[in-house]
Amino acid sequence: MNPEIVEYLRHHDIELPLYLQHILKFSGYDNFYLFPKITSNDIKSIEQFAREEMHQFITKDDNLENFYGFFKTTLESFKIVPGHQKLLLEAANKLQLHKKRKESQKLAEVKKRTKRLHSAEFTTDNSLNSIQENEESDRIIAISEHILKTQKSYLLGLISKLPNYDELSIKVNEIHVNVVQKDEQLSGMISCPFCNKQLKLCWMKQKVNYNARPIYGNYHNHVKTHIPNDRQKGTRKNTVTNEANQVITKFFKNCNDGDKTDHEIHGKRRNDRRI
Ligand SMILES: [Zn+2]
Repeated sequence: MNPEIVEYLRHHDIELPLYLQHILKFSGYDNFYLFPKITSNDIKSIEQFAREEMHQFITKDDNLENFYGFFKTTLESFKIVPGHQKLLLEAANKLQLHKKRKESQKLAEVKKRTKRLHSAEFTTDNSLNSIQENEESDRIIAISEHILKTQKSYLLGLISKLPNYDELSIKVNEIHVNVVQKDEQLSGMISCPFCNKQLKLCWMKQKVNYNARPIYGNYHNHVKTHIPNDRQKGTRKNTVTNEANQVITKFFKNCNDGDKTDHEIHGKRRNDRRI
């Protein structure tokens, strides 16, 4: 696999198993453009590729374990095991942030160069501007990383007692955050992992710095609409038959009519709290 990607991930304590590295290479994902975009849907098509096509690239002398992992003796039922799916999504996430950081550095460079071209004299003001732009993008990345980290752990706590935890936790790992700074004001969106709705992040009026944090009340009120009430309180019912199905039905029902209006969401602002 692309050694630069392997090295970068290793630096972040992520070691992809050899079989996964081979599959990513053969399925065309071992590059900085596509790897960061891998979603759980892509994982399904990668698995299908491994089951149906990959054998063509393997020779008799190859050790099948290096290509199919635990499924080396049952290639036709090959799957990427849940833990490795999470690892893959986590790696994609890290590469996404890396890509954003590189892009904003590039943008700052281009702006700097354009300014230099347009001004007859290159004054110290110009270099000051680009330092400020770099600082701004670093700050936004730091804020975004913090939001992602805290909200993922909040969501994982919320779903921890649900019977379909494994499936939902993969979705949780795919939430994305987009923070924007305009003048001295932060704004942004965060996605709901259960219905993909984009929700506005609200900010206290405070100084824009590395420690600027949004208020998550609206977001938490929304995501909680997908969780059955008794599960939120942490109580367990063990007599209900077919409980898993009920949870799933309710989950999808909420997704369909859970499109809360802004009015409804803002009405709950008093419950805002930090976590
Ligand atoms: Zn939702």
